[in-house]
Amino acid sequence: MMRRGDQGQDVLEVQYLLGRHGLAVDTDGNFGPETETAVEDFQAQQGLEVDGIVGPDTMAALRGELASTDPEPSTGPAGVLGDDVPLAVENPGGGRITDKTEPASRDRTTVAGLGGKVVPLHRLAAAWWGRLVAAARADGIPAPLLLPVSGLRTMARQQELFTHAVEKYGSEEAADDWVARPGSSAHHSGRAIDCWLGTSTGKAHAEEQRETAAWRWLTGNAERFGFYPYDREPWHWEYNPPADRLPPAP
Ligand SMILES: [Zn+2]
Repeated sequence: MMRRGDQGQDVLEVQYLLGRHGLAVDTDGNFGPETETAVEDFQAQQGLEVDGIVGPDTMAALRGELASTDPEPSTGPAGVLGDDVPLAVENPGGGRITDKTEPASRDRTTVAGLGGKVVPLHRLAAAWWGRLVAAARADGIPAPLLLPVSGLRTMARQQELFTHAVEKYGSEEAADDWVARPGSSAHHSGRAIDCWLGTSTGKAHAEEQRETAAWRWLTGNAERFGFYPYDREPWHWEYNPPADRLPPAP
C-alpha cells in the first residue's frame, strides 16, 4: 500500500509506471501531490476506485496493462524495471555508451534535477538513476548530491554548445578539449547524466570531485544500477547495462 507522504524505491517504480501509462510525473521517489493526482487519473482511466492510494488492484493495473501492450521484448516479463536488474539498451552493452542516437519520444521522460531543474532523460536512465539516488540516500549521501544537472542533449543543442566553444576558445581543435562535437556526445542518447557532486561540473574540479564521498559511493555502486563512469569527468555517468544481465526469456 502506498499513499501520499511515502518515499522510496516502490514509489519510484509507481512513478515510472505512471509515466509508461502517459501520466508523466517526476521520478524522485517522493509520493507527493503530483503523484497522487496522477494515480487518481490512472484509477479513473482504469475504472478503479479513485482514492489516490496504490493498493494491490492499482499496482496490478499499473504493471499488468504493460505486459500486454509493451511491444519491446527486452523489457522482460511483467517487471518493466527488470525488478532487480537494470534493463539493457545496447547489445552487448556494459561500459561506455556506443549508440548515441537520440531516444524515441516514447522513451523520453523528465526528472527533477538540482534546484528543481527539469532534466530530460531516457526513461530507463531516469528510473535507474532514481533508484541509485534512493540507495545512496540510504547509505548517507545527502541531498542534493547526485541530483542530475544535465541529461539528454539534442544534436541541435550540442551544435549550439560547440559553436559557442569555438568562439570562446578560438578554433574547433581548441573547442574539442571542452565540448563534444555534435553527433559524438553520449548525452544525445539521453542515457548520460551529469550529476551534482558538490562543485560545478568543470574540469578544474575533477580532482576535488574524486575526493568526495558521493563519488566514491558511485564508483562502488553505480554499476549495479547500470551506470558506468567516464574517467575524465567524475560527474558524468552513463546508463548502459550489459545485455547478459537481461532477465531470462519466459
Ligand atoms: Zn556529461
